[in-house]
Amino acid sequence: MNALFWHRRDLRIDDNTALFHGLKDNTSLLPIFIFDSEILNGLKSDDQRIIFIHQEIKKLKEEYQIYSSDLLVYNGRPEEIIPKLMLELNIDSLYFNKDYEPYAIKRDKTIEKKIYELNKSVFSYKDHVIFEENEVLKNDNTPFLVYTYYAKNWIENLTNSPIESLNTSSFIQNLKKINPKNRTLLPPLETFGFSAKQKVVFPEKKIDLQCLENYYKERDFPALQATSRLGVHLRFGTLSIRKVVKLALNYDVFLKELIWREFYQMLIYHFPHSAQFAFKKLYEQIEWNYDEQKINQWMTGQTGFPIVDAGMRELNETCFMHNRVRMITASFFCKNLGMDWRIGERYFANKLLDYDLASNVGSWQWVAGIGCDAAPYFRVFNPELQQQKFDPNFAYIKKWVPEWNSDLYPTPIVDLKTSKEEILAKFKKVLKQKG
Ligand SMILES: Cc1cc2nc3c(=O)[nH]c(=O)nc-3n(C[C@H](O)[C@H](O)[C@H](O)COP(=O)(O)OP(=O)(O)OC[C@H]3O[C@@H](n4cnc5c(N)ncnc54)[C@H](O)[C@@H]3O)c2cc1C
Repeated sequence: MNALFWHRRDLRIDDNTALFHGLKDNTSLLPIFIFDSEILNGLKSDDQRIIFIHQEIKKLKEEYQIYSSDLLVYNGRPEEIIPKLMLELNIDSLYFNKDYEPYAIKRDKTIEKKIYELNKSVFSYKDHVIFEENEVLKNDNTPFLVYTYYAKNWIENLTNSPIESLNTSSFIQNLKKINPKNRTLLPPLETFGFSAKQKVVFPEKKIDLQCLENYYKERDFPALQATSRLGVHLRFGTLSIRKVVKLALNYDVFLKELIWREFYQMLIYHFPHSAQFAFKKLYEQIEWNYDEQKINQWMTGQTGFPIVDAGMRELNETCFMHNRVRMITASFFCKNLGMDWRIGERYFANKLLDYDLASNVGSWQWVAGIGCDAAPYFRVFNPELQQQKFDPNFAYIKKWVPEWNSDLYPTPIVDLKTSKEEILAKFKKVLKQKG
């Protein structure tokens, strides 16, 4: 049988669930990747993630060629490209790994429908997470809304169903053979309207055991670079989550962070409205401020609060921001500037190399105090206390805001005490209306 395998958030051959099954079940499997024009159209021409993907696709293509096959790369709408390709090449079935975001779910359903109309088959698999949307549920079969309970059940589930990695190479001979003469070249990024100029360093695809060893005591200090930096690799599946979790089993605090990732994936699936609206509808009534100048000062790291400015500058220059500082900058944006979380969320979305809708939206809502298992609305991160605790020697601040202690540095754009009082009053007003 002839099959098509569609790479999406799983840019690897090794331990790839749908690819493994596609190879096992068919005698000729052709791998493809599509630069989805619907997604590309929303991005800036110097988007660094596209460069990351392009580089990974290039490596994948070379790997497939070693196996006497090739990765075909397209640019356009998958809904149109895939059914057409299946007809042209007389392909019986499509294999892919599941994606839990609202846009992808809708797109995949359209494709499935079109393929069924052609009397062909579609097989989709869980690969991006250990436990997917309905595998960790409450006793009444509804989703957990509190992370601690979710995590406890997630860990129990794991004890009952140990992780199995899949050895894709056992069936690699079933890749479609492509004569070197007929192999295609990877189109340069410019063909898609993107610049190929890499401005930031991409984290290595390497699990640093020393880092995991010290993670529990060092992860909150942004100057230390003590987190795994695996975000982008988990986002695009250049690393298998099963491989990472197997190692994480020895490092409890690190494992708990990976479970947050799955918690958010599960939530976005069950509550797709949360991509744009407060998880709790009530909080849609909060009257956020809007001040373009202050938003710009936040975005460019000119707020006069060094830990906030250091974080925003780290983000602007490296497309990464340390988790502790993500919390501080997001809290400052929503709770001290009183701005709508969606504006901040979109800013992170445009910049972060490891941007993931589910985790970004979930975390922003957590910080803003409007999510399903959010920090209580009255808990506001104080940037000055956070700095004293997590950057006591100003090492992180000195790196990103060298002029911090001089006349060149701006004075604070907001008063921490009164701004906190203002936002709490807004929350209280909304809660009072509820009665
Ligand atoms: C406002 C805000 C926005 C965020 N946006 C994103 C985002 O767009 N994409 C994203 O992957 N994470 C996001 N996070 C979570 C977290 O900050 C990043 O996952 C982490 O900083 C990535 O660095 P790392 O790979 O070194 O993480 P590590 O600390 O080494 O953690 C390992 C992996 O666990 C996962 N993880 C860790 N912490 C969290 C968390 N709190 N929630 C969900 N997953 C987590 C990530 O996949 C991460 O790569 C956000 C957090 C906040 C507060």
